[in-house]
Amino acid sequence: MFPAAFDYRAPTTLGEALDILKERCDDAKVMAGGQSLIPLLKLRFSQPALVVDIGRLPDMADIKRDDGHVRIGALVRHVDVERSKELAKLVPLMVEAVHWIADPLVRNRGTVVGSVCHADPSGDWGSIMLALNAELVAQSKSGQRVIPVDGFFEGPFTTSLRPDEVVTVIRIPLPSGQAGGSYHKLERKVGDFATVAVSVQVELDGRKVKTAGIGLTSVGATNIKAKKAEQSLSGRELTDDVIAEAARLAATEAEPKDDIRGTAAYKKDVVRVFVQRGLKAAFARAQEVKA
Ligand SMILES: Cc1cc2nc3c(=O)[nH]c(=O)nc-3n(C[C@H](O)[C@H](O)[C@H](O)COP(=O)(O)OP(=O)(O)OC[C@H]3O[C@@H](n4cnc5c(N)ncnc54)[C@H](O)[C@@H]3O)c2cc1C
Repeated sequence: MFPAAFDYRAPTTLGEALDILKERCDDAKVMAGGQSLIPLLKLRFSQPALVVDIGRLPDMADIKRDDGHVRIGALVRHVDVERSKELAKLVPLMVEAVHWIADPLVRNRGTVVGSVCHADPSGDWGSIMLALNAELVAQSKSGQRVIPVDGFFEGPFTTSLRPDEVVTVIRIPLPSGQAGGSYHKLERKVGDFATVAVSVQVELDGRKVKTAGIGLTSVGATNIKAKKAEQSLSGRELTDDVIAEAARLAATEAEPKDDIRGTAAYKKDVVRVFVQRGLKAAFARAQEVKA
């Protein structure tokens, strides 16, 4: 199917992009890699009068360490994460998880920021960013604001981003101590969206948990931050009992539906098992990091 007709602009500066959006935001759509937007246009689920391609904006394809954060620019593609030696050192959870996303063709074009902005409840980056307590930096003609990813997702494919805003960067806070992460995904075949996936990140203080992040994929109307499970871990040693209780709580926070990928009860149990496995793996990895 062909998309409905639309105007196309490809600004070469952020200022130009923001000017266009200020004027036309009611009927415009930003495009980064186009890997989610173009299928939506072709299916005519989205029919903007104008597509603003941000792919030519300068200085947005960098992964940088800066002031206690790693900054992922709006044009950093999945494949850039796959190849980043810096991320492998600083946020290994991202490099582990990226191999689970789509296929090499999509990973060559699609962006991390675009994926988060797309807000697909089956998207992998959303739950990873929830586990990592990331923030988005959004820019418009009226200024800049920082939006925690926790609270950004309002519903399926719906976020708190305004139509005149462009997300320029995702900022991930760097742990000060020993930290480790893990991503577990169940998919029907290679390259598929998740039946269920779970991201886990823990930072340790000695043998105790300083902070824990748990994000759930494909088990609700949005990616879910399993806050009760996270809180149950704070200040505790990761014994089998503590892990089992956190996994049980995370399963209660999941809100899956029966569908062709499985029943709701089955998916909740997969959440429980993946949180258990994820916490054990993340704990082991954190302990390997030199204090
Ligand atoms: C066959 C296939 C399989 C896939 N499998 C998976 C999978 O297993 N897991 C997974 O997580 N994803 C999967 N995806 C989705 C893929 O990861 C997309 O790349 C990603 O969702 C969107 O990134 P993009 O840069 O292409 O965004 P685009 O398609 O360009 O944009 C997506 C949305 O985000 C908005 N947007 C993009 N960038 C910005 C910005 N900087 N500021 C404001 N708004 C912005 C756009 O307006 C649009 O609404 C798959 C896609 C395909 C086609």
